[in-house]
Amino acid sequence: MKFIKFAEICEKLESVTSNLEMTTIVSKFLKNADNLDIVTRFIGGSIFPAWSPEELSIGPSLLYDAIAMATGAKKRQVKAGVRELGDVGLACEKLCEKKMQRHLFADELTVKHVYKSFEAISRAGGKGSQKKKTKMLADLFGSARPKEARYIARLVLEELRIGVGEGTVRDAIVQAFDVSKDEVERAYMLTNDLGLVAVTAKKGVKELRRLDIKPGRPIKMMLAQIAKGLEGTIKDMGEVALECKYDGARVQIHKTDGDIILYSRRLENITKSLPDIVDMLKDGVSFKQVILDGEVIAMGEDGKPVPFQDILRRFRRKHEVKRIARDIPLRLSLFDILFLDGKSLIHTPLVERRRILEKSLNKNHAQMIEVAPQTITSDISVAERIYKGAISAGHEGIMAKNPKSMYTPGKRGKNWLKVKPVAETLDLVVVGGMWGEGRRANLIGSYSLACRNPTTDEFLDIGKVGTGMTDEQLVELTELFKDLVLSDMEMDIQIKPEIVFEIGYEEIQKSSNYESGFALRFPRLTRVREDKSVKDADTIERVQELYKKQKGRT
Ligand code: AMP
Repeated sequence: MKFIKFAEICEKLESVTSNLEMTTIVSKFLKNADNLDIVTRFIGGSIFPAWSPEELSIGPSLLYDAIAMATGAKKRQVKAGVRELGDVGLACEKLCEKKMQRHLFADELTVKHVYKSFEAISRAGGKGSQKKKTKMLADLFGSARPKEARYIARLVLEELRIGVGEGTVRDAIVQAFDVSKDEVERAYMLTNDLGLVAVTAKKGVKELRRLDIKPGRPIKMMLAQIAKGLEGTIKDMGEVALECKYDGARVQIHKTDGDIILYSRRLENITKSLPDIVDMLKDGVSFKQVILDGEVIAMGEDGKPVPFQDILRRFRRKHEVKRIARDIPLRLSLFDILFLDGKSLIHTPLVERRRILEKSLNKNHAQMIEVAPQTITSDISVAERIYKGAISAGHEGIMAKNPKSMYTPGKRGKNWLKVKPVAETLDLVVVGGMWGEGRRANLIGSYSLACRNPTTDEFLDIGKVGTGMTDEQLVELTELFKDLVLSDMEMDIQIKPEIVFEIGYEEIQKSSNYESGFALRFPRLTRVREDKSVKDADTIERVQELYKKQKGRT
């Protein structure tokens, strides 16, 4: 298929607002498309399957470099174009149009060629890999027509801006290949790859039903909702299965023929970051072919878990894994099993899965690997005791699971509930910001926050917030801050400290990235405190106090 055809469909979709019409257009397009797997992912705005380890690793800055290289423009002209037009795709298209007057095309681009180029870019590694990537992308732009360049640029950032979400693509597959919505949804949850779902749906409903989970292809993880309280939870569920809510990092473990692969919550392959866990699992797990679900936690010298961020550090530093493995000993708590020797277990009730899970471990690594202790009860006083025990042992809280429930991949349903102390909000001063990207290019997309040092009246930064705001609010906030912008260098803006944000968060963490020595996990704007002046903002002492209060550290 010619890539121009894909670009034309995207352009057409940009002017459609009705979801129904959009679905019909996409479905007709998919019905007749070759390279159906690629085209399905492209139209949904992604290049590789969600679970695939392949990624372009090209952010806006490299993209701008590539556009500059391909069009002969200066990088600052590319940036100016993005700011003016509010979108990198349009900016790229415009620059290509200028260039095109001097340029004739040898070959027409195909969807396959574009995909192969992306694949090659993702695989360019080693020394000078950024340069190689930029050059390859510039070459791709060089052989693209302006309209094609618009969508290539957007695909690179995985934001097509045509209004087609995952839901539209799923509905379009249903319509195109005459299969039911439930079947498509089911297949997607299990395989995590809409391209594969489309190709299989095209073969027929029988084939689609045969798609299942398999070791080596990660499954979206089941997630938890916040419980309204222990009492309400027991009332709703009857019996609850209670486990500690560990403050660590989620891992999905796939074992096939002695091979171990570990996936993170974002389904990234993190096997290389955790060699000690991998070694231990190789002979610690008794089954041959299995998918397990659990949490890796780091243990401090006092026997209490070390905060989450230290584990993340380890995930990232692939080169230093051995040394870090000595510094931060890890422990793995397993709480689920999804697949065993050729059979999916996700439809088996939790109590049954748990029974099988308990048989999955050899005893010889008991210090490093365990099945998470679990208590099934309907007695509120037992539940409260377990909750208090978990908090004083340094865990985040507890998980209350429905013992009869199936494993529902990717769902934040009511069968897993998290019970944990509610974090108080912080009132923080806005001291800076960053221009947004993609859809948010002419808006301030995130804000830098600071707490106060009451002795020196200085502001100590503590992190950034870019969530909790609707698109409308972003516009209003950009307007609000317009006259307070002190310097407007590159993407970063300095803002005169006058406005206070009330910020909700999951946790306060120690951090050397910020002057305050702290960072917030999952910060979100809850409201603008127009009633407060910067003098009323929270101090570093209050941050310290709240930090200590977390997880029974006082
Ligand atoms: P949250 O990140 O707040 O949505 O909470 C869900 C996360 O808690 C999961 O993704 C796991 O990483 C983590 N977790 C810790 N302990 C457990 C447990 N016993 N069962 C399930 N998830 C757990």
